[in-house]
Amino acid sequence: MASNNVAQFATELKMPPDVLLAQLRSAGVDKSSASDPLSKEDKEKLLDHLRRSHGSGEPAEKKKITLTRKETTEIKQADATGKSRTIQVEVRKKRTFVQRDDLVASAPAPAPAAAPVVDPAEQARREEEARRQAELIARQEAELKEKQERLAKLEAEKAEQARQAELEAKRRSEEQAKREAEAAAAHADKAEDESRKKAEAEDAKRAAELAAKEAADRAAATERARQAVADEVAQIKAMMNAPRRVMKAPEPTAAPTAAPAAKPKSAEGTLHKPADKKPAAGADKKDDKKGDKKSIKSANVSSTWQDERNKRGAGGPSKGRGNSPAATGGRDGWRSGGKSRRGGHHDDRESNFQVPTEAVIKEVYVPETITVAELAHKMSVKASEVIKQLMKLGQMCTINQVLDQETAMIVVEEMGHKAHAAEADDPEAILADQGEHAHFESLPRAPVVTVMGHVDHGKTSLLDYIRRAKVAAGEAGGITQHIGAYHVDTPRGIITFLDTPGHEAFTAMRARGAKATDIVILVVAGDDGVMPQTKEAIAHAKAAGVPLVVAINKMDKPGANVERVTQELINEHVVPEAYGGESPFVPVSAKTGMGIDSLLENVLLQAEVLELTAPVEAPARGLVVEARLDKGRGPVATILVQSGTLKRGDVVLAGSSYGRVRAMLDENGKAISEAGPSIPVEIQGLTEVPAAGEEAMVMADERKAREIALFRQGKFRDVKLAKQQAAKLENMFEQMAEGEVKNLPLIIKTDVQGSQEALVGSMQKLSTSEVRVQIVHAAVGGISESDVNLAVASKAVIIGFNARADAQARRLAEANGVDIRYYNIIYDAIEDVKAAMSGMLAPEKREQVTGQVEIRQVILVSKVGAIAGCLVTDGVVKRTSSVRLLRNNIVVWTGEIDSLKRFKDDAKEVRAGFECGLSLKGYNDIQVGDTLEVFEVQEIARTL
Ligand code: GDP
Repeated sequence: MASNNVAQFATELKMPPDVLLAQLRSAGVDKSSASDPLSKEDKEKLLDHLRRSHGSGEPAEKKKITLTRKETTEIKQADATGKSRTIQVEVRKKRTFVQRDDLVASAPAPAPAAAPVVDPAEQARREEEARRQAELIARQEAELKEKQERLAKLEAEKAEQARQAELEAKRRSEEQAKREAEAAAAHADKAEDESRKKAEAEDAKRAAELAAKEAADRAAATERARQAVADEVAQIKAMMNAPRRVMKAPEPTAAPTAAPAAKPKSAEGTLHKPADKKPAAGADKKDDKKGDKKSIKSANVSSTWQDERNKRGAGGPSKGRGNSPAATGGRDGWRSGGKSRRGGHHDDRESNFQVPTEAVIKEVYVPETITVAELAHKMSVKASEVIKQLMKLGQMCTINQVLDQETAMIVVEEMGHKAHAAEADDPEAILADQGEHAHFESLPRAPVVTVMGHVDHGKTSLLDYIRRAKVAAGEAGGITQHIGAYHVDTPRGIITFLDTPGHEAFTAMRARGAKATDIVILVVAGDDGVMPQTKEAIAHAKAAGVPLVVAINKMDKPGANVERVTQELINEHVVPEAYGGESPFVPVSAKTGMGIDSLLENVLLQAEVLELTAPVEAPARGLVVEARLDKGRGPVATILVQSGTLKRGDVVLAGSSYGRVRAMLDENGKAISEAGPSIPVEIQGLTEVPAAGEEAMVMADERKAREIALFRQGKFRDVKLAKQQAAKLENMFEQMAEGEVKNLPLIIKTDVQGSQEALVGSMQKLSTSEVRVQIVHAAVGGISESDVNLAVASKAVIIGFNARADAQARRLAEANGVDIRYYNIIYDAIEDVKAAMSGMLAPEKREQVTGQVEIRQVILVSKVGAIAGCLVTDGVVKRTSSVRLLRNNIVVWTGEIDSLKRFKDDAKEVRAGFECGLSLKGYNDIQVGDTLEVFEVQEIARTL
């Protein structure tokens, strides 16, 4: 109402601003532009002036104010096909204030009486006010009409009538205003004028009321339309959520009592309500809320549409809506559910259907893990229903997927049942139970020993010597295989060695919480003394609480000095028994074999002190020492049995893999049928390659083993995902915080698990405050395209340790400039990375791969050996080149070419696309499908 400048006032009066300005000026109000402020006094002056020149203004009555509001919301909902649908819900609200008859009657009534005594100025002001009100009403009605026109598109006829009515009302009020203006101008008799005014006001009011009523009707219609949309939305939601168990209901008798328990939220609702899915109930709730609001706003309007709703709820129109579920594949049972949801419960009883309409609320006990199929079974619904529900929760599942308890419970609750956590069924708890061997007699067992020490102090030599002397003796040149552990028989007893020298492997296992080692043999070179890694090894052994047996090696060397080494060790708090300490010091030579027996004896003495025992007759438990994927045999794992006896045919759960032991080999490749405590064995039959250091155990039930393995896989995947995300975020924040910090991302692929753990551990230790080594990914196997992609994404360098990239990966790496570095010595890799980090990469001799050869055919020729018929698939192969034989992208052999021929002639080199025949120097185990990596040693600048 308040107009505070000329322009606003002009629009209010519906006249051009300059005309108003002219009038103002003639009234003595000095306003020059439309934006000038206009005070009440100014307006009064103008009014005075106008009254003087024309007479009094036109009075009018304000009878009605209508406020309209429109709200548009969107509901996004995925339908059964997974497509997301957007439903637009437009809610139009209107609030009309109508001056009541009695008020109107009483308000203007005193006016004529008062009129004669009112002074002319006051009268004019009132008239002016009334005129403006009339105009406002007219304008609002016009607006209303416009909106209603839009609203009532569906009801075109009605809308048309409404417009007519409004036009009429508007015209009347305008006429009235005009008449009043004329009357005022004609200086009509005041009393007469007043009475006429009153009559006209009555007319206008009646017209306005008529319009208001119309508007209310239309609002009700709109509301109905809106409600229909809302219902449809609710139905769509319900349809998508509706559990089919509503129809299935195998035990209808149990239903009514159980029903209220399921949905305490809707307890105040009717009995059938618990059958609702949450969203449906939510929709109802929303409706109710809106209904409340509406009733506050306008009683008559709300009652209209609520009546309508009730009417519909009682039957009639619900049939129309009932069609929609049927059309979308809903069944009768669904429809009855839908009906009952809408409040038409009694309808169902009247119908011929015998389908139970009540939800069967089940008490579902959810174990720690449960497969989708089992969960569905427990709820007596189809597995697809559960999967659907899971999809809605954003989880794509298969029928055999194992769900964790939390998810399963949410699904159960979502489907309207009552979920209870079943602690007793916890698989890990079962494992714990199984682990109790209390009732089995514990017998002494062999000690498990790890050899640790500084690089080049002779760990490998020592192990080799012991192995050669004690294990391989009598194995007539048999191909000894690397299984990561072996046991030796000494006159005093058995000792098991974990053949992963270096504390990396030891630490890696410890990091997993697995204590495999009973005793550590610390190798210190007699001519070198305590070195950094010696100190580290001591620290690790002490941290793990594992006793040390010190082997002072290389005693055959003239520079060996036991005294010095002993002194240095004492400085590290490793005190020899001779000095009252706990660690036996044994001078040995891995070269001559001197002192080895004494060393083993001391180890056994230590073991005696430890009183190592383990149950023998129990189901086996152990540790994965090493695992790999063998092309012919599938996943192969070396398991160190720690307690119990592992038998062929046992079901083994190793970390997140499981399987029945199909074959069991000892460290010499001999098939055995059972292995007792402290005996390492290589087993086949697992479904996947377990990680080194993971616990392995025999399970009574294969199904349970499978369940736990699948569960662990899921868990592991989640943890991995979470870790990846965390790492990314962490990087971001760290880099932001640290500014110039440089990252050295690495992807590590290795031939066996042991070397992976060792490499990863060592690389991570290289991180300094300035450069951080970030292991983006580390795994066993060849370098694949996805590794290269990961390297591209993370700008990482790929390190292949006895592992190679396949052709696609190589091409991708070349195209993207990804650096793939191959190593077969861990320390070379570590040194390279270290040098790169300190920016000290000097030119070096490095292998440059020049070509790739595929073995197509192998011919064995007596005296000559194996001749391979090959195709050069990439680059060039030269007679002088070195080659690496790759099987499954893992390095099998490295050496030189013996002969290279094109047809029958010797060839100097053969280029890509040509076939050739070749033999390898001193190697005959070539197989069809192997590839040869041809390389030359070149001097190139280091650019890591
Ligand atoms: P690792 O790095 O600790 O595994 O050490 P290695 O076993 O590879 O040995 C490093 C080098 O020391 C090799 O060249 C061995 O030949 C040599 N070596 C190991 N033990 C002895 C020993 O008892 N006497 C002598 N003279 N040399 C040894």
